[in-house]
Amino acid sequence: METGEDVLAQLTDSYNRKMDYLRISVTDRCNFRCQYCMPEDIQFQDKSHILTLEEMLTFAEACLELGVTKVRVTGGEPLVRRGVVKFVGWLKDLGFEDVTMTTNGFLLKENLEGLVEAGLDRVNISLDTLQPEKFAFITRRNHFQKVWEAVMAALETPLSPVKINAVAMRGVNDDEISDMARLTLEYPMHVRFIELMPLNGDTDGSRFRSLFISGREILERAQEELGDLRPIEKDDPAAPADEFRFDGAPGTFGVITPVSEPFCARCSRLRLTADGKIHPCLLTDLDVPVKDAIRSENPIPAIHKVLWETARIKPAAGLTLPEESRHRTMSQIGG
Ligand code: SAM
Ligand code: SF4
Repeated sequence: METGEDVLAQLTDSYNRKMDYLRISVTDRCNFRCQYCMPEDIQFQDKSHILTLEEMLTFAEACLELGVTKVRVTGGEPLVRRGVVKFVGWLKDLGFEDVTMTTNGFLLKENLEGLVEAGLDRVNISLDTLQPEKFAFITRRNHFQKVWEAVMAALETPLSPVKINAVAMRGVNDDEISDMARLTLEYPMHVRFIELMPLNGDTDGSRFRSLFISGREILERAQEELGDLRPIEKDDPAAPADEFRFDGAPGTFGVITPVSEPFCARCSRLRLTADGKIHPCLLTDLDVPVKDAIRSENPIPAIHKVLWETARIKPAAGLTLPEESRHRTMSQIGG
């Protein structure tokens, strides 16, 4: 897809959606076992199948040439991958405008300085509850205190304001909607509840249905307790969160609604898995192998070819019904 002038076309799918946002899952491994994400006894991939960080960088470089401007480093838990801080620096040096990370926060505090030096633009920390016992129940690890300390420490760095992502689950953490929302009154935090997605091989969907709670209900319940929320206009129309602010709050409160109001029509994402596959859509099992192209003699044009093939088959919309549960977990795809 090169023009005669050696200028490469912007990667665009068959529905005319620009693909300019890459999420790289640097590892499928994790130090937590969140119930909605993976089973306690998950089998991780043999390390021999995992791309090196240099190979991931080559892939990112090929994406950059096709107009991808934003990269999120995720996993699994990205901070368990050795060298990931250096990798963030490499991505910035390549020229990406926006390099961000999603982490469970467990190893964040000790890596904050390095990440800031490497040029990380923002961090999203996943935190579903403010209650240590419930945290241990959800994540199957008793690490609330360490994650909370990391959140507080991140607020003291140039990474502030930090984004907090909480997966909403009826009967588990919906009693904390106002406590989480209240954080935005005190701290410069962007707290967002994400609708639970049926992504953990929960095929009959009954467990999913009993836990699911919509973004709309979350907003209503937050307003009942804490007063009106004022909508905030989005800088980036492709951003999935609907964000609001309570009067005078330093932070914002919002919801991400992939199930009740899917944002497929404005999806600009592609995902690279740690084992070298491109996922054009989180909500289908579709993937395109790219490892051979990355390891070929002339990798950049070979990757471009695979990227254009992927763009061609990116579906108009993912399947979001519980019955259509996916069999790769979020940690394998790179949430
Ligand atoms: N380990 C890191 C973390 O937890 O932030 C990064 C990877 S994790 C897969 C990325 C995000 O996916 C987290 O915010 C997590 O809460 C979310 N997630 C995982 N499984 C999910 C599910 N079934 N529904 C909704 N969000 C989910
Ligand atoms: Fe690990 Fe993140 Fe999945 Fe939790 S959500 S198990 S922290 S990858």
